[in-house]
Amino acid sequence: MNSFTFLLFSIILRICTTEQGYFWHLTDLHLDPKYNVSSDPRKVCPSAGNQLVTDPGEWGHYLCDSPAVLINSSINAMRSILPQPDFILWTGDDTPHVPNEQLSEEAVLKMVKWLTNLIQQIFPTTKVYSALGNHDFHPKSQLPPENNSMYYQISKFWSPWLKNESMLSFQKGAYYSEDLKDVGAAGRMIVLNTNLYYDSNSLTTNMVDPGDQFNWLEDLLQSLELKQEKVYIVGHIPPGFFEKKRDKSWFREDFNKRYIQIIKKYHKVIQGQFFGHHHTDSFRMFYSESGTPVNSMFIAPGVTPWKTTLPGVENGANNPGIRVVEYDRQNLQVLDMVTYYLNLTYANKASPRWEKEYRLTEAFQVPDGSAQSMHNVLNKIANDPSYFKKYYEYNSVNYDLNVCKDVCRVDHICAIREVDFSKYDECVRTESSSSKHAFETNLMFLALFAYIVW
Ligand SMILES: [Zn+2]
Ligand SMILES: [Zn+2]
Repeated sequence: MNSFTFLLFSIILRICTTEQGYFWHLTDLHLDPKYNVSSDPRKVCPSAGNQLVTDPGEWGHYLCDSPAVLINSSINAMRSILPQPDFILWTGDDTPHVPNEQLSEEAVLKMVKWLTNLIQQIFPTTKVYSALGNHDFHPKSQLPPENNSMYYQISKFWSPWLKNESMLSFQKGAYYSEDLKDVGAAGRMIVLNTNLYYDSNSLTTNMVDPGDQFNWLEDLLQSLELKQEKVYIVGHIPPGFFEKKRDKSWFREDFNKRYIQIIKKYHKVIQGQFFGHHHTDSFRMFYSESGTPVNSMFIAPGVTPWKTTLPGVENGANNPGIRVVEYDRQNLQVLDMVTYYLNLTYANKASPRWEKEYRLTEAFQVPDGSAQSMHNVLNKIANDPSYFKKYYEYNSVNYDLNVCKDVCRVDHICAIREVDFSKYDECVRTESSSSKHAFETNLMFLALFAYIVW
């Protein structure tokens, strides 16, 4: 068989053996129920804090969380683009960025319920795997490692989506797992409550395994490995670092370590990890001890355009984004991803238009969304400025079109490459000195050139 026939044969084999499915990933809706188009810049939205909001539009503002019409529009856009997905992943954060004093258990529950009803109305027959975000609790980020009335009430809202066993598991620690055969795929979905690992969660300080979630996860992955079943892991707060701010991690160090250990140990059964919380579009790599790419995590952009107030982050807003993942129903391999977005400035000037932003395989010239392909994407963006520019524009969903260089570039590359705390530090050191070296070399050539020309 010559190489052309072999290639043709492999393509035909893949077409015959792949059963392609589709699902939505929706995250960080952050409803601001008080958003209004006021002429007083202090009265547009509580989520802007003390910032003055000038020139607000009907569809929202980059300093504010989402008005209800924006969220409505995003979920209706999902229905127009792909009305019958196999399922929806909804990875949390439903309430506005306002101080705890402006919220209450009742107010948070009301918003979670409102958004749940909206998704159920627009996708009445679609299964939704839903995770809690750090803003889906009161006080925010203080999610307990045991039963409480908020978990209980939210499990009731989500009862049309959850099996009985998942309801009980959710009520205990806001995590659960389900067989995917009901949605026509082979394998399992694991929904985690990674808010238990957040360093702002004072209820889990000094705990080894809050809510017994790590033990539960390991036992489950071990049994899946024996059965050779594949799995997706879904959650809100990701491990590792925020790519828009140096040294900004979310997990406590021991939790971060244990999470990585588990992923590395059971990487063969994990076909993808899907998270939110950043509001930006990025991904994370997991490598074996020998440096082979063994897993990747996809961080989906949020619907809220809210500009982060995290000190040190520049230009931290985004356009609202939603994402379709294409996958193989038989082995859960991620085949491709298409991200859609709303240009908020255009929406406010003319009309809301949800359009395709990019397709992963087209934009980065890779065959699929496997760990090896995502490793290749990382190498392309780390070594080729034209790919890095593209990645950076997608990162804020086409909001920040400035050039990201030197420190900014190192922060992005190292956050993607290293989720482990000490390896991240090492990456920052190495990349900073190599970019400094490249900068000095460029300066030297410029000086030499000037000398010759002069
Ligand atoms: Zn959020
Ligand atoms: Zn969050």
